[in-house]
Amino acid sequence: MSQAPVTASNASNAANMIDPFGRMVDYLRVSVTDRCDFRCTYCMSENMTFLPKKDLLTLEELDRLCTIFIGKGVRRLRLTGGEPLVRKNIMQFINSLGRHLESGKLEELTITTNGSQLHRFSKDLFSAGMRRINVSLDTLDADKFKAITRWGDVNRVMQGIDAAQESGLKVKINAVALKGFNDDELPKMIEWAHGRDMDMTIIETMPMGEIDEDRTDQYLPLSKVRSNLSNQYTLEDIPFKTGGPARYVSIKETGGKLGFITPLTHNFCESCNRVRLTCTGTLYLCLGQDDAADLREPLRASEGNELTSNAIDEAIGRKPKGHDFIIDRNTKRPAVSRHMSVTGG
Ligand code: SAM
Ligand code: SF4
Repeated sequence: MSQAPVTASNASNAANMIDPFGRMVDYLRVSVTDRCDFRCTYCMSENMTFLPKKDLLTLEELDRLCTIFIGKGVRRLRLTGGEPLVRKNIMQFINSLGRHLESGKLEELTITTNGSQLHRFSKDLFSAGMRRINVSLDTLDADKFKAITRWGDVNRVMQGIDAAQESGLKVKINAVALKGFNDDELPKMIEWAHGRDMDMTIIETMPMGEIDEDRTDQYLPLSKVRSNLSNQYTLEDIPFKTGGPARYVSIKETGGKLGFITPLTHNFCESCNRVRLTCTGTLYLCLGQDDAADLREPLRASEGNELTSNAIDEAIGRKPKGHDFIIDRNTKRPAVSRHMSVTGG
């Protein structure tokens, strides 16, 4: 990171970003790479074609773009991917973004990770100003973990979670609900997570990108998960929010919180406050729609930020009302052609 960093106040003077439906956009998710050291079966096919390296923004360019967004009212920024911690020099980038926490422009900088590199980076993440992280984990069983991630090692992830908690990071576990794979195990996972003072969120599979399997076979509606859990536990709806789309319950027996992310059974678009930036500088206005804006061209066209800021305003002006996800036997094609690893969930 050699260039003098752009500050959020000199990046743009434009007003906050408000979309056509009156929703204020103050949350940016940045997919810093589409590459990953796992190949989760619901997320990727085994032989993925990744974006050409020449199309990637440099970390300096990504920093500049994030800073422009912060200048336009982004208060929360989540790094994701692909696996964000496998991008080369990622800590330099995260350390640099930390200046916006120090200045108070950014309320929160966080990350969604598969946990494979956390044993190396946890301390540094805390030092950079991160306080909460999400770790994706769909099973505690070593063989099942190998099967679902194809390439992952659950022991390494456990080491990473230990390291994260020792470093002072608050960890939330994200698990995708997969029919016939982890439905039986979810109570055990909840008890494990809550026993370690970690909240947990369960996510419905979303039809994004071609994978090697049939999504109808994997899809498990969370309405069913919730009704099964309520046979065993006392679930109480609570207004708790973390800035994301999860709806939370508290579980009386464990004393912990459980979130449900239900894009299919309960559409949460009416309160959407976010946009997504990819590592090539493409801005997606909705996880479940193909409409996007290229920010790389305006970013590179000028040293000033006005062109980019205008391109962002124009894009926010056409943020769609919501997604059209559907998973059933008649709908064989994914709702959007890109994989979750491009926009990062
Ligand atoms: N590699 C990191 C990880 O796994 O946490 C960050 C990127 S990953 C794409 C972000 C989240 O999206 C993970 O929790 C993953 O389980 C979830 N995910 C991936 N594909 C999905 C799909 N088709 N439907 C629902 N969630 C998905
Ligand atoms: Fe990689 Fe995360 Fe996708 Fe799994 S869910 S393949 S860890 S990007």
